[in-house]
Amino acid sequence: MSNEVLEVKYGLPKEVVYCKRCVLSNQNPNSTRELSYSPDSKKESTWVDGDGICDACKYADMKEQYINWEERKKMLQELCDKHRSKDGSYDCIVPGSGGKDSRFVSHLLKYKYGMNPLTVTWPPNMYTDIGRENFESWVRDHDNISLKPNQATHRLLTRFAFEKLVHPFQPFIIGQKLIAPKIAIKYKIPLIFYGETLTEYGVRMKDDINLRPSMPLHYYCGEHDFDNIFLGGVSVRELIEKHGVDRRDLNQYLPITPDEVKAFPLEYHFIGYYYKYHPHDVYYYAVNETRFKPNPERTEGTYSKYASLDDRIDGFHYYTAFIKFGLGRATFDAALEARNKIITREEAVSLVRKFDGEFPKRYFKDVLEYMGISEERFWQVIDNARSPHMWKKENGQWKLRHQVS
Ligand SMILES: [Zn+2]
Repeated sequence: MSNEVLEVKYGLPKEVVYCKRCVLSNQNPNSTRELSYSPDSKKESTWVDGDGICDACKYADMKEQYINWEERKKMLQELCDKHRSKDGSYDCIVPGSGGKDSRFVSHLLKYKYGMNPLTVTWPPNMYTDIGRENFESWVRDHDNISLKPNQATHRLLTRFAFEKLVHPFQPFIIGQKLIAPKIAIKYKIPLIFYGETLTEYGVRMKDDINLRPSMPLHYYCGEHDFDNIFLGGVSVRELIEKHGVDRRDLNQYLPITPDEVKAFPLEYHFIGYYYKYHPHDVYYYAVNETRFKPNPERTEGTYSKYASLDDRIDGFHYYTAFIKFGLGRATFDAALEARNKIITREEAVSLVRKFDGEFPKRYFKDVLEYMGISEERFWQVIDNARSPHMWKKENGQWKLRHQVS
């Protein structure tokens, strides 16, 4: 090997290290980045200390050893007792799309804890058939408000997010994060329940809001400063003044203001804080109690059939992560299953080697058409996004310099 210094993009660690327990690497950026409006917010690795075990795996140990789950269940009972409505009005909000996690949370609250949740949905950019079917069967059990944003604006933001951040999902994620508090304030429902713990998906433990029962204010609250709020990597001011976006079409992407929060304080809670969350338990609960259907075919880029199925863009969310961080959809699925002892680390490694980075071609044309870009432009953005410390070109083919073993 030569001593050439390879450029490192996105502030990632120079050296690639894999967790000894699962298959994540230290190139996994902190997901709080995705919750941020700023295009250049700091990107930190999921773990920094030197014992070679990622935070998600440490949290899995913690769940087994240190948390008193009986006590936590009692806390949930008390919380529900405090808020349960007596006159048929809604007493809590469960955001989601009808995937296995939101179904688990809404069903548990309604049918085991006697709550009356209103479900709220920020719909996928483009539903898949299975995503629509699951949504329809979910709302057979619950009232639901779906708020689909202006699609001309949303498509434009998605294109900017892809071209400028190589993150086509960012406008969706921002809207999804804000829909629950916005509806909560509108309908005067002060309690919001989320499901899964972010740490299990590799978010750094110190940032994981699930480790506290409630959500810090800065996740959803802020002033409407149009020079410092960026959507798809473009400031709101520029979107309006340079790109002709109608101010009225941006409401759903702007944070709740401090005044609104003061006037109507919200409580956020995570079922994962109160309930020992195991991906298989949640899956079987969703299938058996709520008619959830897995994908009839294997999802491209991975081996699983039950996670993240609703949106035709989903595969591109994972594919761009694979290009930027060397971690694809199979890595995230196999890491989760390895740390939850559903598969061994060896099996996880071979699944990653087999499926990670597989191109999601099924909906490629739909996604190009949605963003209004050519195939050539797509590959130009993708190839520019490859960090030289991670990728090399061999005989005209891009190859990762490192692979999990
Ligand atoms: Zn790990």
